Formats: sequence, structure tokens, C-alpha cells
Amino acid sequence: MKKGFRALLVVALLAAVTVGALRWKLSGLEHERVSGDVHMLQGLGGNVAVLATSEGAVVVDTMTFAFQGEAIRELAEELGGGPVQAILNTHYHLDHSHGNPGFDGAPEVVATARTLHHMLTRDADFWEGDGRKLPNTTFETRHEMNIGGKTIRAIYPGRGHTDGDLVVLFVEDRVLHAGDLFFNKRYPNIDLEAGGSVREWAATLDRVLELNFDRVIPGHGEATDRAGLRAFRDFMAELWEQGQRAAAAGWTLKKTLAMTRLELDQGYDTMEIPLLLKLDRDFVVSRAWQEASGAVTADP
Ligand SMILES: [Zn+2]
Repeated sequence: MKKGFRALLVVALLAAVTVGALRWKLSGLEHERVSGDVHMLQGLGGNVAVLATSEGAVVVDTMTFAFQGEAIRELAEELGGGPVQAILNTHYHLDHSHGNPGFDGAPEVVATARTLHHMLTRDADFWEGDGRKLPNTTFETRHEMNIGGKTIRAIYPGRGHTDGDLVVLFVEDRVLHAGDLFFNKRYPNIDLEAGGSVREWAATLDRVLELNFDRVIPGHGEATDRAGLRAFRDFMAELWEQGQRAAAAGWTLKKTLAMTRLELDQGYDTMEIPLLLKLDRDFVVSRAWQEASGAVTADP
């Protein structure tokens, strides 16, 4: 074997091992029972809910990559006692929907009409072609499914994270998947360009809090209870109040960032996707100021 070739082979093998290890790491899923027949899966991307029924599983959100979707599907089939009957996408972001192609065979994919619109306009390249598992059932305000004796109620409660996020109520188990309308103890992403709104977020969560549930799965962070969701609602109200006050006083963004004092974000974690997005205090204050001052508005 020539020396150069052997070196190349070693490099190729190392690369294969690295990619394999990365894939293994990324497809690793943590899971816990939240309540009754509802489980939460955590990995790289948004939290996933799996409902077990006598006729198979229902899955909410699919994380970031197709191979994660496959891993979620396999685990859901184990936990849910049969094939996946339906998946729901809480919104269009890639860390909640790009696992969809891993769900070959799932008959129904549910999202709001706005989410489908955002997928087709803001993320069109990804959804082009066969087998992408684009939502095939859409609704405006409410959609209910009955599978294996369980009631799955998908509701659009109003603007917040985008203008199309749904929440899912597992009626019998009294569990809610709140999607990215709820970041538990983390600074949230606020997608103003896709119709998101700091101004309306707290009122949207007030409508969510009218639903009958005890446990909540957030889009990111740990599962919690109603008090956990209410605390985040109060933080979003405080954030809007501060952003609006700064804009009304005519402050620049720089001054706003320097002067704003938030109190309800004690212990909040920062989330970062290098080069893409950093979800921290400055980010959320910027978004509140941008909306309040009209510096950023939704894309058509
Ligand atoms: Zn999101």
C-alpha cells in the first residue's frame, strides 16, 4: 500500500468515525413520562411529545434532522404500542419540523394553515420534493382528533413566537405541549418576520392558560406545571412593557439595551446556535424594541 494512499485511508476512516459519532450523539434521545400516556423526548431541537393510544402513537414535533425523525418514530412505536398515526408540527422552524421526512408511512401531518404557508414561503427549498411529509391537514383555529380512545385537540391561541404556532392538548391526560410559545427558563426566539409578536404574546398565553391541563411540555427546557407557564407569561408581559416604554421615550436600540432592567428572567439560560442565532437578554430586548418602534415588521 502506498504511503499517501494509506494516509488518505486513515483520514477517511477518521472522518467516518467522527460523522458516525456525531450522528449517534445527535440522534440520542432522552425520554421521560410526563403524565399518564404522554412522554417527552429531548434531543437536538425542540421537545417532542409522544402520546400512546390503543391504536398507535401520536407525535408532536420532529426535531432537526430526518435521522432524528426516524429515531423518534422508532421510540414512539415502542412507547405508543404501534405505528405512528399522526404527527403535528407546532410551527415551521427547522428544529421542530425537519425530522418529518423520517416519518415515512405516518398518514396524517397536522399544522395551522399559517405554518404551512411559512414552510412553503420561508423554507421552500427544504420542503420541495417527495417524501418530505409536509402537513396535509391544516386548520385556522381548532382541530380535534380521536385516536384509540384519546382526544387530541390542536389550538391556535394567537400570535407570539410566530403568527401560526399551535398548542396541543392531550385532553384525557391533562398535558399540554405548548411548542415555542413557551421556553421554560430560557430566553425565547421571537420571529417578528413570521408574524411573531412580543405585544400579543402574554394575551395569547392567557388564552392557553384557560385550557384544562396540569402538566406542560415547553418547546425548549424542562417539563413543568401551570405555575411554570404563568411565570413565563409574566416575563413576556414585563419584556413588552419595557420595550414599549423605551420606544415611547424615543430611545435608540443602544440606549434601550443599556437602560432596560428586567426582573423576571432570574436564572434564564442563553441558547446559542453559532453564527446563526443567540437567544439571550439582548436578543429579546432588541426584538421588543424593534416591534414597539416599528423598526421590524412581519414579512408579507
Ligand atoms: Zn421556534
